[in-house]
Amino acid sequence: MTQRETEDLVLPEADKAIEYPKVKDETPTTIVNIHHRPTGRNFSCATHSAGHICREIEHWLITIRSQDYTWEAAEAQLKTEAAEDMETAVDTTANVRLSKRKVIIRSDAAAPFVCIRKMIELCSRAKIYKIEVGAARPPAT
Ligand SMILES: [Zn+2]
Repeated sequence: MTQRETEDLVLPEADKAIEYPKVKDETPTTIVNIHHRPTGRNFSCATHSAGHICREIEHWLITIRSQDYTWEAAEAQLKTEAAEDMETAVDTTANVRLSKRKVIIRSDAAAPFVCIRKMIELCSRAKIYKIEVGAARPPAT
């Protein structure tokens, strides 16, 4: 890995998540990180700053390999990456050639579910069907 692909996010905790054994996986993978736009000179969000869940979808950015994208730009990027690694045959159920690229969605724990759902939709439009959603195990008690 030449670039940092995983942003520093606080992942949602999932006590029911199943931990798969780590196996060497050669599947081409794109890691997408969903995080709220940081407060800056030209942007602030009272809801997020107060620690509440911000539901303004356009306040959430997607970072892929340290590059920030809007939702629209992220869709274009996913389509480009998906097209580079297409399956060799047409999927008999979907009746289209799908991408063999895998997407791992990592989102900030404060991100509303609509962000995850929207990212899954973008993957679907890019013909990506291998999707994992990252979560953190709660600390052992
Ligand atoms: Zn916001």
